[in-house]
Amino acid sequence: MSTIPFLNFEPMHKLIRSEIMQSFQDVYDANWFIMGKKTEAFEKEYAAFTNTKYSVGVSNGLDALHLSLKALGVLKGEEVIVPSNTYIATALAVSYVGANPVFVEPDVNTYNINPANIEAAITSKTKVIMPVHLYGQACDMDAIMAIAKKHNLYVVEDNAQAHGATFNGKITGSFGNANGTSFYPGKNLGALGDAGAVSTNDESIAKKISILRNYGSEKKYHNEEIGFNMRLDEVQAGFLSVKLKYLNEWTNQRKEIAKQYYEALKNIGDIVLPTVNTNATHVYHLYVIKTNFRDDLQKYLSENRVGTLIHYPIPPHLQKAYSYLGYKKGDFPLAEELANKSLSLPIWPGMTKNEVIYVCEIISNYFRKHL
Ligand SMILES: *Cc1c(COP(=O)(O)O)cnc(C)c1O
Repeated sequence: MSTIPFLNFEPMHKLIRSEIMQSFQDVYDANWFIMGKKTEAFEKEYAAFTNTKYSVGVSNGLDALHLSLKALGVLKGEEVIVPSNTYIATALAVSYVGANPVFVEPDVNTYNINPANIEAAITSKTKVIMPVHLYGQACDMDAIMAIAKKHNLYVVEDNAQAHGATFNGKITGSFGNANGTSFYPGKNLGALGDAGAVSTNDESIAKKISILRNYGSEKKYHNEEIGFNMRLDEVQAGFLSVKLKYLNEWTNQRKEIAKQYYEALKNIGDIVLPTVNTNATHVYHLYVIKTNFRDDLQKYLSENRVGTLIHYPIPPHLQKAYSYLGYKKGDFPLAEELANKSLSLPIWPGMTKNEVIYVCEIISNYFRKHL
């Protein structure tokens, strides 16, 4: 077996090459590059996909989250509850509106924010709960929505990693007041550059975000607000429309690979495999295992030409950028444990059975030699 990269776009991109080229040609020939028909069409398709009334295409996932909080009127000094083990972008979006991220520990099994820990973190300054469907598994949205309702808080889902996942049959990106997602190339639905979107059932929020992303202007050269330039490009919107048609099939392939990993690795070494909540589905953006031998295993896999990554090596509360919040090592032990022990294995649509077998063989060899 030759090299197995962490992520390989080739099988996906080979399949859609002619459609992508045609879509690019459409934009090239139309000579219309920003806020046009491709963006409008994709917004309708993505709203339909998330079973929401509106979606607004934006520049990237971080901007989608930032615009969502801004549109909900989150102000300086207010608080937004985020998972302690999330990607930094979730916290950064909170900081952009001048609010403070308040970290809440995950469930030990699913690694998603633990609803049982949320209420203790709510203060008079709390405005929003921001669940992240981490690695591709839907959070316990029934519990989270109930807490939000009880305390009169908004919910903004960070759906960057979970396109198509569900909780109790309802799709992620459709629960919160405004929900941000990313179409960064490596995400399950990825553009060929930066892109993102907000999905919502609230017409006034959708309108506010579409104004904010475009210089705070609804009518050209009439600026109602201090807005941003956070628009989605026509070329990217066109590419996303092509890829969206294949997403369910690609998600099924990810699930098959996850099943194969599970069967091959369930009794190997001290490995802890992903656990899926009985009411949730998992779209396996990432296949994350946990082991006490993480660094050594990663090195061994690399020596055997298998690419892996760590999501994420430093939790937000220990990042230098957030030192002003005054946290120290030990404050969020579960997030810190994940940072030290988790390892993401290769997974992509089109990854072959033999490639998965090879990765599992290398992992088995490692534990046979080292335990
Ligand atoms: C990728 C990601 C983002 C940010 O998306 P960008 O498009 O890179 O800005 C936000 N939150 C999570 C959980 C992500 O994985």
